[in-house]
Amino acid sequence: MRYQALKKKTFLAAATFTGIAVLFPVLCMAASENDVQTYTDTDFAMDTVVSETLYTTGDDINSKLTAVLTDVETNLLSWTNEKSQIYKVNADSGKDTEISDELSGYLKRLLKIAEDSDGAFDPTIGKLIRLWDIGGKNQKIPEEAEIKNVLKDSGYQKIFLDGNTVHMEEGCSLDLGAAGKGIGCDRILKELETKKDVTAALMNLGGSSVMTYGSKPDGSSWNVAVTDPRAENEDDYLGVVALNGTEFLSTSGDYEKYFIENGVRYHHIMDPSTGCPAESGVTGVTVVCDSGLEADALSTACFVLGVEKGTQLLKAYGADGLFVDEDHHVYLTEGMKERFSLLADSYSVEDIAE
Ligand code: ADP
Ligand code: MG
Repeated sequence: MRYQALKKKTFLAAATFTGIAVLFPVLCMAASENDVQTYTDTDFAMDTVVSETLYTTGDDINSKLTAVLTDVETNLLSWTNEKSQIYKVNADSGKDTEISDELSGYLKRLLKIAEDSDGAFDPTIGKLIRLWDIGGKNQKIPEEAEIKNVLKDSGYQKIFLDGNTVHMEEGCSLDLGAAGKGIGCDRILKELETKKDVTAALMNLGGSSVMTYGSKPDGSSWNVAVTDPRAENEDDYLGVVALNGTEFLSTSGDYEKYFIENGVRYHHIMDPSTGCPAESGVTGVTVVCDSGLEADALSTACFVLGVEKGTQLLKAYGADGLFVDEDHHVYLTEGMKERFSLLADSYSVEDIAE
């Protein structure tokens, strides 16, 4: 009974009571203590809309936080900006490239997730992503031969990391798009930890990566709305996930970037083993854990792996997850059962097969 959909009216009444930060940031202001001010802002960075809520006894630093994200994109992760380290690694494929400690640390963790997911998450499929260009100006269904051709140049085994030296086989191309927003959240956390004035914060990057920091003035959980992958209206939510203290949430879905041709949905999450959009039966996956990079990369990996294999991967990382499938079933890992409240009547919660 617990997971029967809450009626929207009931939910909204509860939201007013508990203060749902992501949905209704304004409500939280009333709960602030006298000396803690609440500042909200909406900005654009990392190719997405960034919504920020800051609780602080000091100045409004929301624009500084946006600048941190822009810095991550420009100097570290962009594959189009010549200034970025990833751009240089790609341009130097076949040769050694020196990278920063920071990027080397991220790559090490991402390559581990690639290995642990059996390549379902693979940061070396840059050429494949650009061939399909889903959501871009040149999106198309490529010829089989084209797909085969670019797959020859991908595979996480083609990249070697030795301290700050990275070597990638010639022709291979990195794309960290599946973990970029999560990495951005991790950097924001580092920044916030140096600001003693900030008591709590909420960062929402395009709805697909969310970070909560500290505790709200009234001590209640942060409640993050999860999109219904097949919603007809933007504010039709699947449900709400509760985050406590500093946590990270990421969602991967086939509704973010896609086109439909002859009744087939071609979306932006690729199965590196086929070179085509993943067909694991799931329409969306949400992951919660204590790191932005892991939440983001794992949500992409789990989308490709599907419910059962995805659940095993999440267990290995101590992460909580929810999977939604084509038949409007929702699957929750044990930890997610404590966090999730279903809101959409057309969905039901099912057990994950062991
Ligand atoms: P979003 O960026 O919409 O929040 P994801 O975090 O799932 O969603 O990342 C999707 C992006 O990751 C794609 O646009 C593409 O750049 C890249 N990508 C797609 N499939 C994979 C994959 N199997 N492994 C690694 N990166 C991928
Ligand atoms: Mg991701």
